[in-house]
Amino acid sequence: VIASSTALEPSASARARAALLLEQRLGPSKVATDPDVCASYARDESEAVGRVPDAVVTCRTGDDVVATLAVARETGVPVTPRAAGTGRTGGAAPVIGGIVLAFGGMSGIKDIDRREQIAVVEPGVVLADLHRAVEAEGLFYPPDPNSLESCAIGGNVAENAGGPRAVAYGVTRDYVLGLEAFLVGGAQIFCGRRTRKGVTGYDVTGLLVGSEGTLAVFGDITLRLVPKPDSVGTLLLTFATARAAAEAVTAVIEQGLPMRCCELLDEATLDALRAAGHPVRSDAGALLIVEVDGDEALCERRVEHVGGGFDEAGALEVLVARAGRQRDELWSARREMSRAVRRMAKNKLAEDVVVPRTVLSELLDHVRRDQEEHGVRSMAYGHAGDGNLHVNYLWDADDERPRVEAAIERLFRRVVELGGTLSGEHGIGVLKAPYLSLEQPAPLVTLQQDLKRTFDPAGLLNPGKIFTGASHRAC
Ligand SMILES: Cc1cc2nc3c(=O)[nH]c(=O)nc-3n(C[C@H](O)[C@H](O)[C@H](O)COP(=O)(O)OP(=O)(O)OC[C@H]3O[C@@H](n4cnc5c(N)ncnc54)[C@H](O)[C@@H]3O)c2cc1C
Repeated sequence: VIASSTALEPSASARARAALLLEQRLGPSKVATDPDVCASYARDESEAVGRVPDAVVTCRTGDDVVATLAVARETGVPVTPRAAGTGRTGGAAPVIGGIVLAFGGMSGIKDIDRREQIAVVEPGVVLADLHRAVEAEGLFYPPDPNSLESCAIGGNVAENAGGPRAVAYGVTRDYVLGLEAFLVGGAQIFCGRRTRKGVTGYDVTGLLVGSEGTLAVFGDITLRLVPKPDSVGTLLLTFATARAAAEAVTAVIEQGLPMRCCELLDEATLDALRAAGHPVRSDAGALLIVEVDGDEALCERRVEHVGGGFDEAGALEVLVARAGRQRDELWSARREMSRAVRRMAKNKLAEDVVVPRTVLSELLDHVRRDQEEHGVRSMAYGHAGDGNLHVNYLWDADDERPRVEAAIERLFRRVVELGGTLSGEHGIGVLKAPYLSLEQPAPLVTLQQDLKRTFDPAGLLNPGKIFTGASHRAC
């Protein structure tokens, strides 16, 4: 998928001048212009292919960010922020080239305040490093996208990342207290707070979380932490069908049984696991990985209650992963699922739709029926406790592409009919931009475009994302 944009393209001379000014002001050690180096910044971990940027700035301080934005203003050359490049919708892909502002060099954990239960971090901190650092202090930062070993917190904030633990603990937005934000017009603001509560003025922090790098560039990020749970229990449940598994999830949640994760894998995904050597019983048409936490005694009780709840709700088998190793193997298979699926076909488009949890079974039925009727290969897995399903469409021959596009549009229409939303955690980026109007009415889209113009009147910050009319079909 070649990403494209309706944004005004800068001239070749403006691009050359921008590269020169960056080198002069930041020094060659922070600015790469070699096309081979720049080429690795043209895309993220999605199918969107951006243009090779004209320059990549590896910023080390807030002053570097300010200097880069000044060059963008002076030359009219756009800037695309990039954290770790694991995005799934082309958010970090520079659709018309220009400058990539890379945050790998700003990866410091500045403060972990145990008494206030707060962390202040730079945007390039890899999430798993943050987890390890706060857990060493007896604290916990719950958001856990499955890319946690490779994604960075700046990208998490820009995408409002979720993950398996969102069902109990919420998503990134629920933990961002404050942001240092660099505006493309030159201002540097601190929005939000260090306190647990605070309602002064508009919730600008809330607006910036999930803004996909289109409104402002983040510097320091202030995060709320919670106490680390003592104990975690993991259950593995098999069901005859994905529908049965989804209905069991609703039944167990309705009984008030608390789970901190509830991941569903459909039959096609189980086939992939079996092919990779994981022992999954042959009559299972779906699998749930469930976690509970608490102090040791509470956790034991929760394992018993939740396991009993799923047993009553029709599980074929309820297994409790006692040993840490067994649990780790299970989770590493789940966390690597996205990349493993990527290797199963020449092409993949992955959607991350959400529906109200009570109708997840209907969405799973749609995915199965659609595959049977139209023959487009798909696999579905995801965060069942949140009604968030990752539907992956796989194909090899290029001429199958239009059928995949049609399947995606049918999926989105069904999701909207069921009262759902196009993206639960990956954002709109380039890939879903053509479908925004399926979910959002024109006045709402216009309001958001007006906001974008207020922050970025010249359209210099991450152009071509969220609102563009051309992309998905532009190849
Ligand atoms: C195997 C795999 C599993 C995944 N599982 C999950 C999952 O469970 N849950 C989930 O939510 N996502 C998941 N993702 C998607 C991805 O990891 C997340 O979207 C993540 O938040 C992106 O972080 P990143 O650091 O890679 O950001 P990037 O891809 O570098 O950037 C993402 C967006 O953030 C913007 N941005 C980056 N830095 C800044 C900054 N300093 N200021 C302003 N904007 C900025 C970029 O412009 C871009 O729009 C998965 C991806 C993979 C490959």
